[in-house]
Amino acid sequence: MYTLIDTLKNGKTNWVDMKQSFEIAVFDGDGIGPEIMGPTCDILQHLASASNAYELRFTPAPAGAAHYAETGESLPATSMEIARNADAILLSAMGLPTVRYPDGTEISPQIELRKALTLFAGVRPVTIQPGQPTPLNMPPGKSVDFVLIRESTEGLFYTQGRGEVTKDEARETLRITRDISEKLFQFAFNLAHDRKAHGRGPGRVTCVDKANVFRAFAFFREIFDVEAAKHPDLIADHAYVDATALWMVTKPWDFDVLVTENMFGDILSDLGAGLMGGLGLAPSADIGLDNAVFQPCHGSAPDIAGQGVANPLAMILSAAMMLEWLGLRHDNPAMTRDGMRLRKGVGDVVASGQMLTRDLGGTAGTAQAAQAVIDAL
Ligand code: NAD
Repeated sequence: MYTLIDTLKNGKTNWVDMKQSFEIAVFDGDGIGPEIMGPTCDILQHLASASNAYELRFTPAPAGAAHYAETGESLPATSMEIARNADAILLSAMGLPTVRYPDGTEISPQIELRKALTLFAGVRPVTIQPGQPTPLNMPPGKSVDFVLIRESTEGLFYTQGRGEVTKDEARETLRITRDISEKLFQFAFNLAHDRKAHGRGPGRVTCVDKANVFRAFAFFREIFDVEAAKHPDLIADHAYVDATALWMVTKPWDFDVLVTENMFGDILSDLGAGLMGGLGLAPSADIGLDNAVFQPCHGSAPDIAGQGVANPLAMILSAAMMLEWLGLRHDNPAMTRDGMRLRKGVGDVVASGQMLTRDLGGTAGTAQAAQAVIDAL
């Protein structure tokens, strides 16, 4: 795929094929984490070994609640280094309700990673394919395919763990900066370009805010408008967050790319997961300028851990997002295509209604569901 000239001893040159090689940091985390990560890495390896364009190397990065209980460290510096140096980070889920810091809060290295690596764009695709269980009454001919981008480093999470609480009052601070907002909106418009180029969506970016009430959101919107003016080929509009919640239920097929503040995005992305029939089919990515974490929206599901019944599809869809992102970033179209193939493979499994796990109304176990994706490929 990638050719370079190899000079031989006799002075002649030889064209040889060279695969691009990518380091993937693997946080297999807590609860069902290792159960869904194992088959996901197998599928990725299956795709990579059939490709002459890229290879993947996986490096385990221990972290999480069980690791904290064992060692007193939730995110060791060595794991942080592995993550920082990797081309991409795969993360299943971390945290266990029974394991907590002395102040009573849960172990959540996934949130620490977002802040430490400045992963400002939380990308939450919402897609509903034919055959996919959804609480929506889908009009014939309509399909849902939009992306919610949740700012993931500031907003109302800015004072997370540092809020002031007195006997009579509690305060948290919402912080929106020009620097992060500019990067966020640039990312959103670039994504709309890519989607339009791939025949997904009309190229529309909607800024979701509450600018009618809060000055901070008027500031957010102003920065959005400046970025929008740089993209005359795309449509830019605004929506209030409360109305957006309503429209996500009444006409989600009208959305393309939505971009919003951290807390609003946190809430709307679970609504999006609900539209997709539950957390088991909801992938996500947290993307910055230099690093990106790909992980399902769900948690470590301790109630079903160790039973072999966890749904691996959201983790596999997150891995598909990773391939697409790496392929675009490193100009490796074969890798992007494999990401799309993997996403389609999962869609085919869901549409067939066979080999679905319990949460999707089936009886398959984790291994059978993952095998069905390999078969679909
Ligand atoms: P959860 O998402 O783990 O589970 C909610 C419900 O969904 C449970 O009934 C669970 O069995 C089910 N579920 C989740 N994923 C599933 C899957 N792949 N297949 C089948 N069923 C699935 O949320 P929770 O119970 O609120 O949290 C459990 C732990 O996970 C907590 O410690 C929480 O802090 C942590 N958590 C971590 C992340 C993350 O790592 N990004 C996100 C959310 C929660």
